[in-house]
Amino acid sequence: SVPLAFFSGIGAGSKRGILFKGGAALEAIKDIKVVAMDKTGTITEGNFVVQNSVPTGNIEADYLLALAAGCERTSTHPIANSIVNAACAKGLSLERPTAVNEFSGRGVQATLSDGEVLCGNFDFLESFQIDLSDYKNEQYGTEVLVALNRRFIGHIIISDTIKEDAAAAISAIKGLDILTVMLTGDGKSSAEAVAAQTGIDDIRAKLLPHEKLTELRKIQDSYGQVMFVGDGINDAPVLAGADVGAAMGSGADAAIEAADVVFMTSAMEAIPQSISIARITNKIAV
Ligand code: ADP
Ligand code: MG
Repeated sequence: SVPLAFFSGIGAGSKRGILFKGGAALEAIKDIKVVAMDKTGTITEGNFVVQNSVPTGNIEADYLLALAAGCERTSTHPIANSIVNAACAKGLSLERPTAVNEFSGRGVQATLSDGEVLCGNFDFLESFQIDLSDYKNEQYGTEVLVALNRRFIGHIIISDTIKEDAAAAISAIKGLDILTVMLTGDGKSSAEAVAAQTGIDDIRAKLLPHEKLTELRKIQDSYGQVMFVGDGINDAPVLAGADVGAAMGSGADAAIEAADVVFMTSAMEAIPQSISIARITNKIAV
């Protein structure tokens, strides 16, 4: 191929905030059959906002929120940030945990003065044999369940917004004859709500970070080359394992390093644009 054409592709990308890491990236993109995406921070803004603190029994809502915030204060996950921000906004004093154990893509275990606190998803609390019969899932958002000394004490409802251009971008990708799949660690109901609003072809939910890679391998076996788009939070392995790894927006530094393509903006339209540029560039280079 003619390197000059790749320079023009790289130039066309940079005008749109798309950073191709060399001609090899442009060449690899032209062959992809599937775009697999992370949900949080890729299809959604990743701006989690606490909507409600829902205690069980006679526990106070603010106490539930304060315990969760103390537990989450050392985590850098966007869910954790939203809980800490909500507690601070209410003027609640946050305790500093004496021991913390974060389980990637699941939740956090911390020791506070009132005892052991667990904050995470349903499966995370279930793995600690917590009795969750008092938990009622009423909402299609992300919910963080909280246990104190191995007793379920309530949940916190957190919302995230779908990016404005998500549906248009998914439709543009599909228009390029490419299958769209979402790989997420979030629950099925929250994943289905996002799929319904964006028109994404397929969803795989409740995946742990290493399971995202297993799922990617299955997709590669069934359909061919896959571009994975993620922000690097809990998806670095799958980003590195994809035929084309794309890091989105204000992604983690490690993700930007491991990626073949970096989208400097968080707009989803960069995904179909990158594919179109790669296809045109390769036609010229032939
Ligand atoms: P996604 O695949 O949507 O980017 P992640 O893999 O980052 O999601 O997280 C998957 C799920 O794990 C979250 O939806 C949440 O239920 C749970 N989780 C991860 N980190 C935390 C945390 N710090 N506190 C509470 N729950 C968490
Ligand atoms: Mg993520």
